[in-house]
Amino acid sequence: MAHQPEEPDRYVCEGCQAIYAGTAHSQDGDHSFEPPTECAACGSTSFVEFADWTHHSARES
Ligand SMILES: [Zn+2]
Repeated sequence: MAHQPEEPDRYVCEGCQAIYAGTAHSQDGDHSFEPPTECAACGSTSFVEFADWTHHSARES
């Protein structure tokens, strides 16, 4: 891939709040993004989309 004009979705780990860039998957000429399966830092498998994190964390506290 020579160029990637899109900015990937980002995901926040619910366990330690590490931020990961989504893994891109080609889909009919477009891309979709998926969170990692497991956090490399804390092992959590729960991720929240970066755009939803503020709302999510406010609800949890
Ligand atoms: Zn984590």
